[in-house]
Amino acid sequence: MKILDLIIIGGGPTGINCAISAEKAGLDYVVLEKGVLVNSIYNFPTNMTFFSTSKLLEIGDTPFISHGDKPTRSEALEYYRRLHQAWKVKTHLYEPVLKMERQDNSHYLVTTTKSQYRSRSVIVSTGFYDTPRLLNIPGEDLKKVKHYYDDAHPYVDQKVLVIGAANSACDVALETFYKGAQVTMAIRENEIYSKVKYWIRPNIENRIKEGSIKAYFNTTVKEIRTKEVVLEGPEGTIVIENDFVLAMTGYLPNYPLLQNLGLEIPDDKDKIPIHNPDTLETTLPNVYLAGVVCAGMKTSTLFIENTRDHGEIIIQQILKNKVQLKTF
Ligand SMILES: Cc1cc2nc3c(=O)[nH]c(=O)nc-3n(C[C@H](O)[C@H](O)[C@H](O)COP(=O)(O)OP(=O)(O)OC[C@H]3O[C@@H](n4cnc5c(N)ncnc54)[C@H](O)[C@@H]3O)c2cc1C
Repeated sequence: MKILDLIIIGGGPTGINCAISAEKAGLDYVVLEKGVLVNSIYNFPTNMTFFSTSKLLEIGDTPFISHGDKPTRSEALEYYRRLHQAWKVKTHLYEPVLKMERQDNSHYLVTTTKSQYRSRSVIVSTGFYDTPRLLNIPGEDLKKVKHYYDDAHPYVDQKVLVIGAANSACDVALETFYKGAQVTMAIRENEIYSKVKYWIRPNIENRIKEGSIKAYFNTTVKEIRTKEVVLEGPEGTIVIENDFVLAMTGYLPNYPLLQNLGLEIPDDKDKIPIHNPDTLETTLPNVYLAGVVCAGMKTSTLFIENTRDHGEIIIQQILKNKVQLKTF
């Protein structure tokens, strides 16, 4: 089995970005992606619009043209398909990585569901969209509870509870309301999250003010039942009728996977896999962290926009270490 220069785990915007930098540097690399190309974006809500302008998402010296200043999900998918083709990014799709082991102090053995690979360096760019932040309440396992939102159509004429008050929750509450759902929001805090985008916040606040969307503030969900939900807030415990729960409570990095890769995860609140923020190198030699996974549990701090330099930083580091790579 040959030893590659680089394995990139995760074929999201960051994995593609790193692959383009590796391609430019002439490295022998492969991207291992568990699903489709840019799997997370493919699974974003069908009609979502990015909050970044297309200009700020551009990578690979390739212009990102969109109809509006902010691209839609389908424009983004087109952009990443184009990048993939134009840069001939070497990708193995539908191939989840399971674990990684250090071999003879000279390289890593990466095991997927289909094969094994050897590589002198590895980039972990697995994002955070795999694991929903669970509520851990009775009834959360009912089929009517969704942690991923796709399209408004199934919720027409249904009593929908949206949990959360950040961008995704507000977007989902508005979209399902406009398409004909009866929407209630359960919000732990006393207001809509202050960092909700400036073009979404007034809309959701006004829908709540006029009573089109009912919002319970300072309220937590205690139980989900087949036809109702139990909320607890300033009015005490209340039970409301309900058909669907859209729990827009965010997502976490896949920590069991990061542990199987041998990364060190501190036992604190933020759980940021240990890495040097300047070089992005982890505590494993020649293993790097890239993209939004670098934020650990602080998922709202890193985006495509502010991690676009990760590919270049890491590849420069790999080139610098190339002599040592042969012997580390
Ligand atoms: C609804 C939503 C809207 C957003 N809007 C914006 C925006 O407007 N602007 C912005 O800059 N950011 C935005 N973000 C944040 C950021 O863009 C995304 O999280 C982005 O997808 C991060 O890119 P990434 O490549 O680091 O991670 P991801 O896109 O999550 O890519 C990780 C990849 O790793 C793969 N993977 C995971 N585990 C394995 C495994 N075991 N083996 C192989 N592959 C694996 C996944 O399938 C995935 O394809 C948004 C996020 C969300 C959730």
